[in-house]
Amino acid sequence: MSSISILGLGAMGTALARTLLKNGHTVTVWNRTRSRAEPLAGAGAKIAESPAEAIAASELTILCLVDYPAARAVLEQAQEALAGRDLLNLTNGTPGDARELGTWLAAREAIYLDGGIMAIPPMIGGAGALILYSGSRALFDRHSLALEALAESRHLGEDEGLASLYDIALLSGMYGLFSGFLHASALVTSAGGKAVDFLPLLLPWIEAMSGTLPDLAGKIDSGMHGRDVVSNIAMQKIALENIVRASEEQGVAPDFMRPMLRLAGDRVDSGGHGDDISAVVEVIRKRK
Ligand code: NAP
Repeated sequence: MSSISILGLGAMGTALARTLLKNGHTVTVWNRTRSRAEPLAGAGAKIAESPAEAIAASELTILCLVDYPAARAVLEQAQEALAGRDLLNLTNGTPGDARELGTWLAAREAIYLDGGIMAIPPMIGGAGALILYSGSRALFDRHSLALEALAESRHLGEDEGLASLYDIALLSGMYGLFSGFLHASALVTSAGGKAVDFLPLLLPWIEAMSGTLPDLAGKIDSGMHGRDVVSNIAMQKIALENIVRASEEQGVAPDFMRPMLRLAGDRVDSGGHGDDISAVVEVIRKRK
């Protein structure tokens, strides 16, 4: 069992601390507002009086704060304690935020692993929770027992930005699903339907369309967007125009759908009529 310090006891930091305690680890906690640490003392955690004291107390320190400026502010208070320490940052941010913090910590001789939590606090320590990691593989291997107690763990590579990049990519997939669901619900309810009654139609349709993703992914990776196309983008552009017109007729703002129509239209206008919808990736990559 390891000794682990947690800096940041919001909803997520508290769930991490409780799970580690439950699994028999020695846990030290610190939070800017001390009163949030006190319930954990009752569960067996030691309370540190400062971030530096917490970092010095354990083999591994986990940061779980609201954002990167907060994480940096906390670490700046503990600069003298950082050299040679293992630090895992589970604060949500961008790949650039993670790489910048990695550089800052390397200059202070700390060992850094970044992580992206794909779970909500009640899922921590249970089935279905996943944490993506990137950065020091050695740190990841050293603390694998503790990390496995929190969630299924996946190390993506030494580039500190990868966990955040994949976290953001997964969230992008989720918001794509939510935006489609919200628009579809607005359409159905505009004619008096109920979103709840629509789900038995929508869910199998989404599942069937998910089956096309391996083919689209292959086209994205190979760049061969015109291979074995059964639903060409010129046809899909007309479908998207119909979605926009139907939405306007029904008094539903087509705000979710217009960007997709514009992107498909750009590919058609540049000569990609026969391509699959996968070719939209080439349009958005160009706008990087
Ligand atoms: P939270 O409940 O709002 O807690 C925020 C934490 O940040 C508190 O400990 C707060 O301390 C601390 N904090 C804020 N500003 C600070 C500052 N300037 N200096 C020091 N401490 C500061 O948030 P959370 O849900 O625990 O989320 C923490 C991280 O986990 C976020 O990056 C979030 O994106 C990520 N995450 C959360 C979830 C979720 O569902 N909750 C899921 C996945 C990932 P005080 O108590 O003193 O205010």
